Amino acid sequence: MTRLLLPDDVVFTCQQSGACCRNEWLIGVEESARARLEAVDWTRLDPPLPPGPKFRPLPFVLAGGERTTFARRPDGACVFLEPDERCGIHTRLGARAKPQVCREFPYSFVETPDGVAVGLSFACTAVRAHQGRTLPEQEAEVREVLAGSTRVRRLPDPLVLYSSVDITWAQYRPIESAVLALLAHDECTLPTALLAGSVLISLCVGLSQVEAKARREDRAPTETLVGGLAQLEADRYRKVIAVAAQARYPRQPRLTPLAPLYTWLEFSRRRPTRLGLVLALYRNFFRFRRGRGRLPDWITGGPPFDIAEVQAIAFDAAAPEIDPFLREYWRHVVFRKTLTPLHGVFRGYQTMLALYAFTKWAAKLTALRRGRRTVTGGDVRDAVRLIEQRFVLHARFAEVFTLSPVLTVMADRLFQDPAFVRGAVLEPERP
Ligand code: SF4
Repeated sequence: MTRLLLPDDVVFTCQQSGACCRNEWLIGVEESARARLEAVDWTRLDPPLPPGPKFRPLPFVLAGGERTTFARRPDGACVFLEPDERCGIHTRLGARAKPQVCREFPYSFVETPDGVAVGLSFACTAVRAHQGRTLPEQEAEVREVLAGSTRVRRLPDPLVLYSSVDITWAQYRPIESAVLALLAHDECTLPTALLAGSVLISLCVGLSQVEAKARREDRAPTETLVGGLAQLEADRYRKVIAVAAQARYPRQPRLTPLAPLYTWLEFSRRRPTRLGLVLALYRNFFRFRRGRGRLPDWITGGPPFDIAEVQAIAFDAAAPEIDPFLREYWRHVVFRKTLTPLHGVFRGYQTMLALYAFTKWAAKLTALRRGRRTVTGGDVRDAVRLIEQRFVLHARFAEVFTLSPVLTVMADRLFQDPAFVRGAVLEPERP
């Protein structure tokens, strides 16, 4: 029987909010489910569903091979979603009759040498609100969903630690444990923990290079990656935390890493032409670099806003309604393995830091729209939902690294800049 890796610090039980069924994202339906459900006479069931088409073709084939999606009601909800926010297929024919994508949400699966890592999507309202049962408590349901899944991702072997430095799964395991321990550490703030993770990964790169060189020269290494990590663990990672705690926000604001993320968001919302995309990237790059200038609002859908107004909104990572939630989320992103190590350890982790910066920024814009000068937990939850949908779990954002070696080199250059890490994680001091 497949071994499952089930985290017990995230929870989920469907609260029937209907939010995932009225979302603007494209929900692909597999061919077998479409054929089966199209054969049902919905007007003869009790209670009947209104007549009319239940499916429509997608403008393009999705990554999972689906060519069809649900028809939508005028308010954007799936045609099967009922006024009581329940799924009409589930109510009339049972959970097993639903298309696989609906049965699978909000679970995610990544196959590792230790077993299948089961994750949850923070695009789900119940997961973000921490409502429901832990994953070990729902193992039987998880197994059933996994058995029908065609979306199980597989880690590359070997894993990429950094550029041309590869490591084995056995070497990666303690890196992940260390990052998770830092993100839960009770002796440092979340920003310090994120910075310490970056310091730790740089150390791992150095250790693995020393180890590889010794092995190439056919001598026993004086230090190893696993040995170095064991020493850090014995001291509860206090050495890397001490280094991280000294970091200060750069003298000049560092907003340029937000430009490609904002352009991706624009791209995912309106699919511009290639020329339109390049122009949007230039516009966003120069405005974010200057820290001012008006931009169309692809986050809340409001009127254009000025970057400087958003920057003026206060974000307190230590606020009681923000710190535990963001720790839970970023720990789960690491556990799920969908950024690191799937897209490389160093690159995946630095991408996570860039997305942390974007989360703060999206939350600030949301607070501004809601007439506040300080970000609240609700703003952050909404921002995390956007991040999950458009960048981390339900989007192919991290795959841009595989499109062209030029993009990869550019991203790595940005990620190596120490000011990038400090600018992404820390907030400027306010008078
Ligand atoms: S089929 Fe059911 S579960 Fe799937 S999107 Fe429609 S209402 Fe939601």
